[in-house]
Amino acid sequence: MTARIIDGRIVSKTIQEQIAVEVKQMLDKGLQPPGLAVILVGDDPASQIYVRNKKMACIKAGFYHEEYLLPTLTPEEDLKKLIIRLNNNPKINGILLQVPLPNNLNQQSMLELISPEKDVDCFHPINVGNLFLGMPRFLPCTPAGIMELLKYEKVDLKGKKAVVIGRSNIVGKPMAMLLLQGNATVTICHSKTVQLPKITREADIIVVAIGKARFLTADMVSPGQIIIDVGQNKVNDKLCGDVEFDGVAQKVAAITPVPGGVGPMTITMLLKNTIIAMKLQQKA
Ligand code: NAP
Repeated sequence: MTARIIDGRIVSKTIQEQIAVEVKQMLDKGLQPPGLAVILVGDDPASQIYVRNKKMACIKAGFYHEEYLLPTLTPEEDLKKLIIRLNNNPKINGILLQVPLPNNLNQQSMLELISPEKDVDCFHPINVGNLFLGMPRFLPCTPAGIMELLKYEKVDLKGKKAVVIGRSNIVGKPMAMLLLQGNATVTICHSKTVQLPKITREADIIVVAIGKARFLTADMVSPGQIIIDVGQNKVNDKLCGDVEFDGVAQKVAAITPVPGGVGPMTITMLLKNTIIAMKLQQKA
């Protein structure tokens, strides 16, 4: 049996087209479009690609967009001033500070400086807290994108056994929280988990977000499962996920590819969050 491919590009295109229509309606009414500012510090090649893709998505959707490409040795004071200026700029509804930041900058305190109302990545402790309390303002982009893919697949999460491999603040933890809020029974695994293959074989849904190429192999999965591969690893200059795709796809019911699975959804959710931010700011 070969798995159904969950195509993030198709889902993403559909949502981005809906967003573009909504933005056009705003412009037709003479309103300002949603505005997103993206800050990249340093020259990490992967981050440069992410930032470029975000810019292209913004332009395509008709957003107002500002981009700040700062050198690696940017003093913290300069970055602080920029964030505060963007916090106070009414044309900017969302601020995205691309992580990881270079080591000379305190990443957490820079993220906390972004106004919670403009924190479209959902990294600010207030937004993280709201998410964990079950009353989120924004959903973190990658886990939210995965929830959209599961919705598109018409997966009823209620009572399903979901296993999340990885416990990062960006993906693993919020992913587990969203699955839990969807009434799945969630197990979170990490590098100290013992008997991982036994746990994964018993799951209905597996989300892998660890950053280790082809880690989840066919002997760790079972027929009927849905596999979500978040990993983005470069192997011999080619992008590959955390799942050994060919072997796993022979066994399970559905799987996201890399590229073309979760990745496009992350950017789409960023656009969605910027519109949510704009509406919240208009109400305030
Ligand atoms: P991270 O912060 O490095 O966290 C990795 C997690 O994986 C940690 O919790 C770690 O456990 C766990 N882990 C590492 N080795 C393991 C093993 N052998 N068995 C079980 N767990 C293990 O990574 P991240 O930021 O969550 O990113 C993970 C991957 O997703 C990366 O490839 C990243 O590029 C990708 N990503 C993709 C998108 C997208 O849009 N597609 C977005 C974000 C991230 P410990 O906590 O015990 O160390």
